Amino acid sequence: MRTRERVQAAQETCGRAPAALSVVAPCFNEQESLPEFYRRTTAACQAVAGADYEIILVDDGSRDRTLQVIQALSQGDARVIGVQLMRNHGHQLAATAGLSISRGQRVMLIDADLQDPPELLTSMVDLMDRGADVVYGKRSVRGGETWFKRAAAAIFYRLLSRIANVPIPEDTGDFRLMRRRVVNLLLAMPERERFIRGMVSWIGGKQVPLLYERDQRYAGKSKYPLAKMLRLAADAITSFSIVPLRFAVWLGLLVACAATLLMAYTIWRWLSGDVVVGWSSTMTAIALFAGVQLLVLGIMGEYLGRLVQEGKGRPLFLIDSIHIDGTSRAVPLDFSRMPRQVQESMLHQLTAAEPAEPTSPRNGSDPLTRASLDPP
Ligand code: UDP
Ligand code: MG
Repeated sequence: MRTRERVQAAQETCGRAPAALSVVAPCFNEQESLPEFYRRTTAACQAVAGADYEIILVDDGSRDRTLQVIQALSQGDARVIGVQLMRNHGHQLAATAGLSISRGQRVMLIDADLQDPPELLTSMVDLMDRGADVVYGKRSVRGGETWFKRAAAAIFYRLLSRIANVPIPEDTGDFRLMRRRVVNLLLAMPERERFIRGMVSWIGGKQVPLLYERDQRYAGKSKYPLAKMLRLAADAITSFSIVPLRFAVWLGLLVACAATLLMAYTIWRWLSGDVVVGWSSTMTAIALFAGVQLLVLGIMGEYLGRLVQEGKGRPLFLIDSIHIDGTSRAVPLDFSRMPRQVQESMLHQLTAAEPAEPTSPRNGSDPLTRASLDPP
């Protein structure tokens, strides 16, 4: 395709009418999976939306050649939009950045490692045609995951569904198809400690599961080590439940009762003249109370820390540039804080305009000088 034809195709698919379907995939060091992901996802999109779709690949500060692969894909196909974040923001924020760029009437959020089969799009669209606002993938089998990850996930999902203040479906990740109005509501929620599957549950509407077998990763290793998994779990619990704070009250009451009994016992021993109190029992009591106090302080700290993070009000993510059709376009650094309508009109201008500058490698020019901080 010649450049002008490509630009025209890009304008037709991205710049003018919003696409019928957007696929959003956050990518962190996924250079091996991406070509196959693109091939299978393109086939799945064409099967349900003809040519009226866009595939948004978000490079979440990868350290391998993911960005270059995304640029090459966007150069060869005007329906691929590459989003380059300034640094690694983590899966949930990378997904949010991709959703903010998407303009499809229906949006599928999917991992780039092919653990979630893109071919399920057909069944998801089918369920949505029958009235669902959200169709979420519910895992019946989790391929290629260690027994530890499966056990941890099983415990976590069951605990969360017991204490969360909205029903969050078990064994469900972020793989889902959402209507535009759901995506817009999700984007309008300002919190930075995002647990997308819970936030979508909170929105409500008609949410329908689609049972599927989760495959193994196509290539590479999981980007969710234990520390990140625990963090996501803590985000999920603190975002959707204050039960742990109440738990502190019950624990405090329990320990106060135990302390009263211990005091009564001590007085009784004193009255009976036997005042030599053992060192072990003293130490045990001190350790128990100190431990409980630290635990309660820790739980409060988890919530307080998140309050501090939210209070700073920083942008959720920073987009370095958007890659469309072999060209790189800068967006304002406070894009994530703009109202949705402003974002949409900006994307419209970006995709409809003549290419601003050729694709440059990461840090090829200073994004701070390229991007204006003023809304249009
Ligand atoms: N991911 C990301 N940023 C990160 C970690 C992961 O964008 O900091 C992407 C990753 O490339 C993949 C998806 O999020 O497309 C899910 O990550 P992963 O497959 O490692 O998680 P798992 O399936 O093992 O829970
Ligand atoms: Mg995965």
